[in-house]
Amino acid sequence: MSALGYLDAELDALAEQGLLREPAPPAPPGDELLDLCSNDYLGYAAEPWPAPEGRSGAGASRLVSGNHPAHEEAEATLASWLGTESALLFSSGYAANVGTLAALARPGDVVVSDALNHASIIDGCRLSGATLRVVPHRDPAAVGAALAAASSASRRWVVTESYFSMDGDSPDLPALRALCDHHHAALIVDEAHALGVFGPHGTGLCAEVGIRPDVLIGTAGKALGLHGAFVLGSRQLRLWLWNRARSFVFSTGVSPTLATALMSRTRRALADDAGRARLARNAKRLREGLAELGVERVGEGRGPVIPWVAGTPDQAVRLSRRLREQGVLVQAIRPPTVPAGTSRLRITATARVTDADVTRALQAFRAAMRG
Ligand code: PMP
Repeated sequence: MSALGYLDAELDALAEQGLLREPAPPAPPGDELLDLCSNDYLGYAAEPWPAPEGRSGAGASRLVSGNHPAHEEAEATLASWLGTESALLFSSGYAANVGTLAALARPGDVVVSDALNHASIIDGCRLSGATLRVVPHRDPAAVGAALAAASSASRRWVVTESYFSMDGDSPDLPALRALCDHHHAALIVDEAHALGVFGPHGTGLCAEVGIRPDVLIGTAGKALGLHGAFVLGSRQLRLWLWNRARSFVFSTGVSPTLATALMSRTRRALADDAGRARLARNAKRLREGLAELGVERVGEGRGPVIPWVAGTPDQAVRLSRRLREQGVLVQAIRPPTVPAGTSRLRITATARVTDADVTRALQAFRAAMRG
């Protein structure tokens, strides 16, 4: 047996539990499914690359010879648009979270993390070597208790998403800010799913409620329809990450063309109140339609992420398969992405879908429920 022969049995075990995920073949041209599970909230991703001029590659890490004017310009512009002193580009949101958390938190610190935070936050916390206190989802009292119990730690950190990617709900950000101030802790907020979608001109949920996190993480792969990410905060934060975020230091700088495109897409997203209004209308129609069909809890949330919790992996996969037969693509989300027992369809609204698409989707949901 080859050294990797054990993978056969492990893959079989995943399949038996209904947890095996395989890449779906791309739909042939002209036979596209109605995609209701992307994060392309403003509908930009299918468009051609904006601003293709300029050099394609950085050529090296930014610390070596890969720092180019397009990077610096994009970072200064993003920072000024989003109201912070500085910004630093990363190659992905995953790299931004892992690199930032591991660069900031250390052994002897305590990181208080919401139970439903994204895998990249969890991995960054683990890599930091700090003591991790996972608190129940959206529970400021538990955050306060964890911070109070950490009074003798070297430093305290609270990390949360502002709009949870799988549940479409939000923490009480003002309460978290106040708790951090009271306990002399730093607040790290991942706005991956909120930038471009919520807040004045799409500047996110921290801006909407008027608080400033110490570290704000934004991604370009969701509402901006590109890829890559940025960390926003003080000048000192940027310089620290420049020196100590290993996913930045030891990685080729992002393409300067991506940096230029990111500026162009951000400018567009900030001005796109019409897109946000279409997105909000589509999300509302989908939520209301699903609630009428008897799907629980969908009426409680807001925004584009609509979880239809099915229960077991098989139940979620079956619903997804039935929707696919109706021409609607909503992938089943299973553990480890969501907790056991909460496998679901994560339906997302985008500004790109039409009224007719929403009507068609609701018909497909009804048919899928009947089985
Ligand atoms: N943070 C959150 C909350 C996310 O949902 C994701 C992606 N699903 C990421 C970070 C990672 O971003 P990226 O896809 O750019 O690596």
